[in-house]
This record gives sequence, C-alpha cells and structure tokens, in this order.
Amino acid sequence: MIRLKNTKDISELRISGKILSSLLKILRKKAQVGVSLKELDSMAYDFIYEAGGEPAFLGYHPEGSIGKFPGSICVSVNDVIVHGIPTRYRLKEGDIVSLDAGVRYNGYYTDSAITVGIGKISKEGERLIKITKIALERGIRECMPGNTLGDIGYAIHHTVKKAGFHVVRGLTGHGVGFEIHEDPVVNNYGKRGEGMKLEPGLVIAIEPMVSTKSPHIVQRDDDSFRTHDGSIAAHFEHTVLITETGVEILTL
Ligand code: MG
Ligand code: MG
Repeated sequence: MIRLKNTKDISELRISGKILSSLLKILRKKAQVGVSLKELDSMAYDFIYEAGGEPAFLGYHPEGSIGKFPGSICVSVNDVIVHGIPTRYRLKEGDIVSLDAGVRYNGYYTDSAITVGIGKISKEGERLIKITKIALERGIRECMPGNTLGDIGYAIHHTVKKAGFHVVRGLTGHGVGFEIHEDPVVNNYGKRGEGMKLEPGLVIAIEPMVSTKSPHIVQRDDDSFRTHDGSIAAHFEHTVLITETGVEILTL
C-alpha cells in the first residue's frame, strides 16, 4: 500500500534528510587509505545520534536475511554492490566504496548512498562511478506529477546501457518515509509511460546499482550482495519527494 506524505510528514522528512546528507558529506572525506569500515561505521553512529536521529539500518532484519544488520551504515567495497557489513577491513588505494545510510528522525526515514574512490582508482572505476551518478540524476529528472515509475527506470537503464555497463538484476529502489522500505518498488529499468503514475506527496528512494561487466548478483552468507563475476559495482541513492511542480531531493 502506498501512503503519500502530508505537509507535516514532509517537514520531518526534510530534517531526517538533512542529517543524512551531512553524514555522507563527512563520510566521503573520512573514507581514506588505512581507515577501517568499522571506524567509518562508528563515526556514522555517533554523528547520527548527536544530530538527534537514529541509524535506521542498525538491527534491521528484513525478510529473507540471516540476521539483524550489525552496523549503522552499509559499506560495500569493490565487487560488493550493497548491504556490505562494516568489518575491520582497512581501505586500500584503488578501492571503490559504496557508503549507504538510513536515518530515522522522529519516526521518519530517509535513505541515501554515494560511491567514492579511495586514492587513485582505475579509469574504469572512475567512469563507473560517474555513470552511476549520472543515471541517478537522469532518473530524478523524470520525477514530476504525471510521469511514471517506468520513466524513471527507463532513464536509468538507458544511461547505464549506453555507457556499456549493467544495471544489476534483482535489487531495486523503494518507497520510504514511514518505514525504511515501503511500497512502491522502484525498478532501475522500465518502459516510458508504464507503471505507477507519480503524484505529489509520493516519497521514494531511487538507487541505481551498476556493474561494469555482469548484471548477475550473488548473495553471500553475510547477506551482502556481490557481482556474480567479481566485477566492480557502484551505487548512488537519493530520497526524493514528488511535489506539485516536480521534485525535491530530501537528501541533497
Ligand atoms: Mg540505501
Ligand atoms: Mg534504499
């Protein structure tokens, strides 16, 4: 069931999104050679609580997963696409790292992710990050009343395909706000004009997940998703609100 957000909901979501965007700005700077994923995670934990929020992923236990998520953020390195656990692994020159976080503020959830390169990364990695970010921007550009979820998915898939990369199969964006994951499913592919119509008050997390070589994924024992063939993956995500006239990015 899709639950649209009213003016009061939206003002709370703006605060939630502000905490999250500030967090990702800090994490982007802190993600350096030698820093462990666990250290990034504890920085995130402290930052979110100090800002008056709660880390939405901590203890999260979605259907089909083996257990509660142990971290405050997902940190997914190289061939890990999403749901990477913040371990003691220390970042190395050339790694590409997706930092994905969810914030709950006064009961209102936002979700956002960025992918960053550590030190000097491969040309292919640089291009993958750039294209995935552009794919998200193109998807967001389709967000306006009257357009459909298919328009968003088409824009993302078209951008990725044209660059010679792959949207990974089986992972999607989603509605967000009252819960961290709610309806509708927001696919990273689609047909123009098809699917649910976007309307004011709809809040969704749009999140292209893109790999260089293969669209196929595998779920590991720790619940993280990796590319089937070990190729690298990137991930960008924003929580957006459909407004009367277009879109407001709540996690900018
Ligand atoms: Mg996320
Ligand atoms: Mg999400």
